[in-house]
Amino acid sequence: MAFEGLADRLQSTIKKITGKGKVSEQDVKEMTREVRLALLEADVNFKVVKDLIKRIKERAIGQEVMESLTPGQQVIKVVQDELRELMGGEQSKIAVADRSPTVIMMVGLQGAGKTTTSGKLANLLRKKHNRSPLLVACDVYRPAAINQLETLGEQLDMPVFSMGTDANPVDIAKQSIEKAKEEHRDYVIIDTAGRLHVDNDLMDELQQIKSTVKPDEIFLVVDAMTGQDAVNVAESFNDQLDISGVVLTKLDGDTRGGAALSIKAVTDKPIKFAGMGEKLDQLEAFHPDRMASRILG
Ligand code: GDP
Repeated sequence: MAFEGLADRLQSTIKKITGKGKVSEQDVKEMTREVRLALLEADVNFKVVKDLIKRIKERAIGQEVMESLTPGQQVIKVVQDELRELMGGEQSKIAVADRSPTVIMMVGLQGAGKTTTSGKLANLLRKKHNRSPLLVACDVYRPAAINQLETLGEQLDMPVFSMGTDANPVDIAKQSIEKAKEEHRDYVIIDTAGRLHVDNDLMDELQQIKSTVKPDEIFLVVDAMTGQDAVNVAESFNDQLDISGVVLTKLDGDTRGGAALSIKAVTDKPIKFAGMGEKLDQLEAFHPDRMASRILG
């Protein structure tokens, strides 16, 4: 299960302090030292950990906590609040354009789960929000990517707009919006090309698509299992494209949690959805509060 190591360590650290009727500064210092180590071991970004620990200490050593009737529990509440805030506080919603269709651009490295997530998102928009999305195949460099999206479209009984591998991705994106308007589709989900690494050609193409279709959302899909790499990828995509949110995939796997806990702090962009499996209904809204409770038990 995701976060297992982190959850175990934090929970045992917390147990030591929860029942205390009196908490000393020394207790708080010991606890934060252990929390710090647990977070670093879970591959949370170093600077993120440093800032977080500073905030926890400031609040936990404050008068309100130390002089409360249940200081141990108050300290834990501080840790939980701060973890939740770290992951983005309130859960954020998906945009709706003033004029249909709402355009969502999906970006990310190859293998992160972009195509699968495009299908999952279309499924979720239809099922939960009663929308009718159009999926768009813009990865012209890999015929397999187009086939994959078309297969997903068949499984979902959802239309896929494709112009094959010879067309220009910017044209495909542009024409897909016309198509969506003609067919009264209210969401357009553009599955863009992925590469193994962030490179200039890819970014140029994505920027051109962005300036042409003016998307309402740009979702970066990153693989939670890749930890710090996911955070670095998020930073570069955000610098180049000013993304609007992140979808963290493979949270059903054995991830240590570093990406989930660092991305919002590093990019200041919210994690909007979490991929919880390979199936097309395994995409969930990301709830920082639930995730924080899960980690702290
Ligand atoms: P893309 O290259 O970014 O388009 O990635 P794909 O959509 O092809 O996904 C790559 C692999 O990751 C596929 O085998 C997917 O089934 C798998 N995958 C995607 N999302 C998830 C997820 O949330 N959990 C798990 N376990 N696997 C996922």
